[in-house]
Amino acid sequence: MQSLQTQSLRRKLVIISLITSGLTLLLSNTAFMSLEYYLSRHDTQEKLSVLGEVIAKRATTALTFSDYDLLHTNLKTLKADHSILRGCIYDENQQLVAQYQSVQSNITCPKRLLQLQSEQNNNFSQYFVIRLESEHIGTLYLENSRQDLLNRFNQFLLFSIIILAVSVVLAVFLANQLQDVVARPMRELSNTLKNIMRNKDYSIRAVKENNDELGDLVDLFNGLLGTVEEENSSLKTSEERFRKLTALSPVGIFQVDAKQQLQYVNQRWRDIHGTDDKTPSLHEWFKLVHPADLVPAQNAWNRLISKQESIALELRLTRRNGEYTWIHMLAGALHDRDGELLGYLGAISDISELKSAQIKMENLAFYDPLTGLANRRLFKNRLEKSVKSVMRSSSSMALMFLDMDQFKRINDTLGHDAGDILLKEVSTRLNATVRENDTVSRIGGDEFTILLTDVHQMADVRVVAEKILHSLAKPIRIKGQDIVTTVSIGITMTPEDSTDVNTLMKNADLAMYRAKELGRNNFQFYSEDMNHSILEHLALEKEIKEAIQREQFTLVFQPKVSLFDYSITGVETLIRWEHPDKGIITPDRFIPVAEETGQILDIGSWVLEQSCRQVGSLIRDNVLPRSAKVAVNLSAKQFADPDLAAKIRNVIEISQIPPECVELELTESTLMDDVETAIQIMQEIKTTGVSIAIDDFGTGYSSLAYIKRFPIDVLKVDRSFVRDIPEDQNDMAITAAVIAMAHKLSLEVVAEGVETQEQLHFLRRNNCDEGQGYLFSRPLSLGQLHQFLQATERQRQSHNYQI
Ligand code: C2E
Ligand code: CA
Ligand code: CA
Repeated sequence: MQSLQTQSLRRKLVIISLITSGLTLLLSNTAFMSLEYYLSRHDTQEKLSVLGEVIAKRATTALTFSDYDLLHTNLKTLKADHSILRGCIYDENQQLVAQYQSVQSNITCPKRLLQLQSEQNNNFSQYFVIRLESEHIGTLYLENSRQDLLNRFNQFLLFSIIILAVSVVLAVFLANQLQDVVARPMRELSNTLKNIMRNKDYSIRAVKENNDELGDLVDLFNGLLGTVEEENSSLKTSEERFRKLTALSPVGIFQVDAKQQLQYVNQRWRDIHGTDDKTPSLHEWFKLVHPADLVPAQNAWNRLISKQESIALELRLTRRNGEYTWIHMLAGALHDRDGELLGYLGAISDISELKSAQIKMENLAFYDPLTGLANRRLFKNRLEKSVKSVMRSSSSMALMFLDMDQFKRINDTLGHDAGDILLKEVSTRLNATVRENDTVSRIGGDEFTILLTDVHQMADVRVVAEKILHSLAKPIRIKGQDIVTTVSIGITMTPEDSTDVNTLMKNADLAMYRAKELGRNNFQFYSEDMNHSILEHLALEKEIKEAIQREQFTLVFQPKVSLFDYSITGVETLIRWEHPDKGIITPDRFIPVAEETGQILDIGSWVLEQSCRQVGSLIRDNVLPRSAKVAVNLSAKQFADPDLAAKIRNVIEISQIPPECVELELTESTLMDDVETAIQIMQEIKTTGVSIAIDDFGTGYSSLAYIKRFPIDVLKVDRSFVRDIPEDQNDMAITAAVIAMAHKLSLEVVAEGVETQEQLHFLRRNNCDEGQGYLFSRPLSLGQLHQFLQATERQRQSHNYQI
């Protein structure tokens, strides 16, 4: 039999009501029958006692006189009662003397009393003593049938069975009714649930029929469904949003599961990969990576897997047609609420266009188009880097400065194209004499530099210098003429002579002049007697200290102008030194020294505070609009100051300038030293609410991958690019490329050093956002700035503002 728990509710109800009614009946019947039995027996005993007493009394005389007939007659009176089965009278010798036997009974009285006593029967019976006076003269025995009682019992039993049967029917009926009340709503609930699960339709509701506890249950159930439906629909909405977003996303999105299987990619991801096939495995995907980018890509990916570090990298992918696509990829680990790893989520964007703009820009910005050698910018860059690495590795490096002897004469007599051929040939020969790691640059018309890295002694450098002189001594054939050209070479060593880039340049230059003085076509090593710069340096340091104490520094402000409507968008603060004897000293002279000695920290703090105070009050007085910004130059030392963010916050608070009105200018070289740290510092700076501009952009050699990651707002195109517009096609191409690239990165572009109408038109044509330069205004004192702003405002209002 199935256990009760697994039975249907309906059966359970039937069984329970059957058991209940059966037990009730059994108990009540047992009680009734016991009582009945007890009462019947009591009645019978009573009746027998009365009869026995009467007959025994009457039998006394008959026994005394042995009148057996009389005894007989006496016993016959028992006939009146059908239930009496027999009556027996024994004399004093316990011998049977008279008896009565009912018609239904066939048992007779035994002859002797003893026999009677040993008989076994279930009937009711009693013995009576027959006395004369106190003498025992005989015994009367009466026996009453039990059959009556049994019959009554049977009737009772029959009756009970009928009641039981009726109650079974009733129980089944009741259970049916009950299951209507209880089980049906339950079944209804479970059917509703099944329906919902089958159709995934959470708008279905259970029907409420009663207002009892089950009704409450239905209400609760429906309430729960409501919540589920709401959550489900918000889940669906967010899923739909995610789906739409990924479908519309201009970036390729991919998801990798915890087992490193590529699980999902969006359409844009396929477009970038030029594939519509099934999603490749991660292993297959790595096969698409350009061999040159494979190791860094794998390293980055391993870093993500092992350290759960977010990664950002640039790499090339091979497309089906064999071409490459440059992509920028970001990826990070995805965890659930309990921190359990779900997989990895990433985004890729096609940066091919951006990359080619960058490569073009870099080529233009860093290489000499005539000779293909590094130009002055790239050379300075490499020099800075090399000096740093020399200081780290405690090796040595030589800087050679070469100037062609009589180049001007050749150029003038044989013409520019002959000069160009000569320069190209010299470049080729120079390149051929040095090792691959060394940098040959053309830094001016007929000026070249060579960086010899990793040299151990001056003798090594001497060998190279001699080789150069020797290789150039061979005649060059130009326009049918054999031309012999010579060079003068100045050499300086780092770290022996100096570790400052500008000083090194000056040293090499001085040594080169010494070589010229000594008759050209030779090389000279720099020696201390060639200049007094160290003493100058020390004197300047002392003077700066005094200048700080005597408050000889002042600020000037140079307006920045919108190139769309010529409105003033802000000012850049520039420092001036009002020297009591030497007059105004420009920052180029003292900032590098202050930077080296650390005095820049004090000067910089002062500049920041004064700029915010003075420009803040102009903004408060509505002389400058609320959207205007004050741009403050920040040196590398200041940028490395761990208290920088706190200082900025403090200045903003005391000067009460809105933080969005402050912009900090950082140069590329400041940021490129240690990119990860720089990003962190910049992010910290940005929490103060100020914005960040990259100053002198284009002179450094920053990778696009980093620029993309820098939290910056503005790019300032270095004025060396603007200077030669419109003469220098190169610089124009670079400027246009920088503007386009910056806009692709959603950065604003400010052009520095705008001096002419031509430059302005070119910049406007190329959608440069803002300009700064003498064309608009020279740097102005606070009073002058005030007047300038009022004057331009008047001009603007009369609609005839023209530059
Ligand atoms: P910068 O940040 O590139 O500043 C712009 C420089 O270009 C200024 O020179 C400015 O007078 C000059 N300039 C502006 N318009 C024109 C123009 O149309 N043509 C030409 N040829 N030049 C123009 P300045 O004031 O001599 O500053 C030189 C550099 O000194 C600045 O270059 C900046 O790097 C640094 N500097 C200036 N003030 C501070 C300062 O407060 N703190 C720090 N750390 N550096 C400063
Ligand atoms: Ca600046
Ligand atoms: Ca600048």
